[in-house]
Amino acid sequence: MNTVITTPSARHNFFFFFLSPHSSSSSSPSTTLFFHSPHYSPSLSTSFSFFQNPNFLTGNSLFHSMQRFCSGSSMSRNKAMVESLQRYGVIRSNKVAEVMESIDRALFVPNGAGAYIDSPMSIGYNATISAPHMHAMCLQLLEKNLQPGMHALDVGSGSGYLTACFGMMVGPEGRAVGVEHIPELVSSSIENIQKSAAAQLLKDGSLSVHAADGRKGWPEFAPYDAIHVGAAAPEIPQALIDQLKPGGRMVIPVGNMFQDLKVVDKKSDGSISIHTETSVRYVPLTSREDQLRGF
Ligand code: SAH
Repeated sequence: MNTVITTPSARHNFFFFFLSPHSSSSSSPSTTLFFHSPHYSPSLSTSFSFFQNPNFLTGNSLFHSMQRFCSGSSMSRNKAMVESLQRYGVIRSNKVAEVMESIDRALFVPNGAGAYIDSPMSIGYNATISAPHMHAMCLQLLEKNLQPGMHALDVGSGSGYLTACFGMMVGPEGRAVGVEHIPELVSSSIENIQKSAAAQLLKDGSLSVHAADGRKGWPEFAPYDAIHVGAAAPEIPQALIDQLKPGGRMVIPVGNMFQDLKVVDKKSDGSISIHTETSVRYVPLTSREDQLRGF
C-alpha cells in the first residue's frame, strides 16, 4: 500500500504567517500562509488558538512579525519564529521559548531552507524534521520531566533538533539520548548538534545519538523521566513503557492512517495512565527497510 506521509504536524487547523529566511534581503518579501494540516478542513478551523489571539483580526501582530522576519541574523529570525509561536498561544512556557530560541532551527534543516516556516521539512530518507509547533507542543507536554539532571530519550531523533532541546533542558548533569535507525541521519544530526548551542553537551557526553531500532528504546541510560517518540507507532512499544521511570512521561503518536498524540504517565506505583492530546500525522515508526522502500 502506498501511503503519502507529509508531516509530523498537528492536524489542528490554525494558521500562521511566516516568511522564508530567504526573503530577508527582499524589499517586498512574500509571505507564506501555511495551513498546519495537510488535510485542511474548514469545519475544524476554530479548534485551536488562532481565534484566541486578540490581534489576529487587526493584523497588527502579523505586520510586526513580518517586519521582524525581514531583517537580522539567523538567530534573530529563529527568535522571531519563537515569538510568533508565543503570540499565537502555541508556546506558553518561558523555559520552552528560551530553549527554542537557543537552538537555531536552520542548523537542522538541509541548507537552512524554509527553516522558520511552521512546517515539517524533508531531511531525506523519507524522514522529516517536525514542524516548530509540534516541537513546541512536545517540549511543553514534557517540560516537568525535562528538569535539570533528568534523563530524556528521543526515539526517531531524525535531524537531532529535539534531542538538542532536551539536552539544553536537562543540562550537563542530565542525560539526553537520541535513537535513530538511519545511520546517515545519525551522522548528520551529530554534525547539526555540533554547530548548535548544545555542542558542549555532546562533547562532554551528557548528550548522545545512537543508530538503532528505537522501538527497543535505549536501555543503557534507562529509566527515563521523559520519552518522546517522533514517529507513529501502531501500538505503544512495551520496551518504552518498561524504560519509563515511575513518575515519568512519554509522548508518542499512535496509529496508522489516523493517529493520536498519546501522553503516557507512569505513576509512582508503576501503573500507567494514558490520555489523547490531539490528532496528528507523523511518519511511521517502522523498520529501516520499510522506511527506505517508502513504507
Ligand atoms: N523528531 C525528529 C524526526 C521526526 S521524523 C525531528 O524533528 O527531526 C521520524 C524519524 O523517526 C525519522 O528520522 C525516522 O528515520 C525515524 N524512525 C522511524 N522508525 C524508527 C525506528 N524503528 N527506530 C528509530 N528511528 C526510527
